[in-house]
Amino acid sequence: MASDVLVLVEHIDSELTDTSYELVGKAKDLAGGWNGEAVALALGSVDTSELAADRVLKMAHPSLDNYTPEAWLEALHAVVQERDPKLVLIANSTVGMDLGAGLSGRWGKPIAAYASAITGEDQDVVVTSQVFGGKLLAEAVIDGGQGVCTVIAGSFPGEAGKGGGATVEDLTPPAALGESRTSFVTTIEPEGGDVDITESPLLVSIGRGIESEDNIELAQEFADAIGAAVSASRPITDAGWLPKTRQVGKSGMKVKPKAYLTFGISGAPEHLEGMRDSDLIVACNIDENAPIFDIAHFGTTTDLFDLLPALTEKVK
Ligand SMILES: Cc1cc2nc3c(=O)[nH]c(=O)nc-3n(C[C@H](O)[C@H](O)[C@H](O)COP(=O)(O)OP(=O)(O)OC[C@H]3O[C@@H](n4cnc5c(N)ncnc54)[C@H](O)[C@@H]3O)c2cc1C
Repeated sequence: MASDVLVLVEHIDSELTDTSYELVGKAKDLAGGWNGEAVALALGSVDTSELAADRVLKMAHPSLDNYTPEAWLEALHAVVQERDPKLVLIANSTVGMDLGAGLSGRWGKPIAAYASAITGEDQDVVVTSQVFGGKLLAEAVIDGGQGVCTVIAGSFPGEAGKGGGATVEDLTPPAALGESRTSFVTTIEPEGGDVDITESPLLVSIGRGIESEDNIELAQEFADAIGAAVSASRPITDAGWLPKTRQVGKSGMKVKPKAYLTFGISGAPEHLEGMRDSDLIVACNIDENAPIFDIAHFGTTTDLFDLLPALTEKVK
């Protein structure tokens, strides 16, 4: 019905991602305002018993157990065609960015990506999106409200989407699924690292502001002095200055240490996605407008090249 909010839930190794619960919670909130239902669509084999949607649609097919753009888009589009929801919510993950754009094209409806807030205003949907790596917020209106929205992880509380109790419907997969030209082969896990940053209660995390591989020593010395591990933003691991296993964020590790101390990290949404749940966040960045300060509990605009040696000295 064109008053329902459909959430495509995501799963990794048959387990729902946290964002799936966050989106279901938001869908309930929005659908309630339009007298519709919060409907979760689960493609492939995954346990959905904890989802607190009004309705869970399950579609089982071997080609849906692991994500492939072709099969998932075929299945998602078939459900959208049949159910005609008002709004489709998808995580703004690597998978979601792919699928959201694909669905928007096939369905012929608009997409608002990088959403961090969504409100229903009468029949319209107002979406606040983070643009330019989170430095600016942009507001977009989906006139009449029918469209796709991809949502940044951590934008809404997950608790509202948990608790179970949904009516479950099993759907018949579209025949075209048997004709997919792409198939999932295997998952390639990153190589085991020297340090497991997800286990460390204290992280000293460095970004592009560190400028060169040689300067990483400054962060390592401070980390050693306080018993922390060194983690990093993506430019550092892309440059090969630290192994990929030290990367925090969307395409890296999700961490939740007691304290996350950042030096020269701007706070792009893809980085925040991996660390925003840390108990304490402290940021050092010379740019007072850096988005990291929006979520940091404490911050300083001191130059990291002055601060790191001074902190190490002080602790020693
Ligand atoms: C699909 C996708 C997935 C991604 N996945 C990830 C991911 O998993 N993790 C991730 O981190 N990024 C990821 N990114 C990249 C992300 O968008 C950003 O480009 C990246 O996080 C920026 O890293 P940074 O903050 O180190 O660099 P920048 O954004 O360049 O910020 C450097 C900061 O250092 C500050 N600075 C400079 N000099 C100093 C100094 N002397 N002292 C103090 N501060 C200083 C600057 O003011 C600036 O704010 C992804 C992007 C995409 C599109």
